[in-house]
Amino acid sequence: MKFDATPAQVGLLVRHLAHLPGSQGVTHETLEHELPRGLLERYDWLQKVGHTPPLVALEHGACSGCHIRLPTMFASHARLRAGVHTCPHCQRLLYIPEAPVEEPAPPPQKPPKPARRPRVGGRPRA
Ligand SMILES: [Zn+2]
Repeated sequence: MKFDATPAQVGLLVRHLAHLPGSQGVTHETLEHELPRGLLERYDWLQKVGHTPPLVALEHGACSGCHIRLPTMFASHARLRAGVHTCPHCQRLLYIPEAPVEEPAPPPQKPPKPARRPRVGGRPRA
């Protein structure tokens, strides 16, 4: 499951959670104004049921809330698509801490062909 959210909106959630200096302006009211309803409802619900923190980073391919490794496909999809994702294990909201990569990945390089070696061990030909 995925919620559409801009990096700025994700930043608001992170600041609301972290209570960092300078984040005093990020109140729940701010979130109500700035976030899509579905995302905020999920955020509030997670706090209510005790899944705290409700928003965690997706780090090294794993949810940093439950520390369960996510499927590679999930992680790479999440990396490509901006927004907030849901951990399939603990239902927490997941965000990608690093900026999404805009440019396509370079094509995989083919491994160099192994150098031909003369056959050894064979019987000498007559
Ligand atoms: Zn999780």
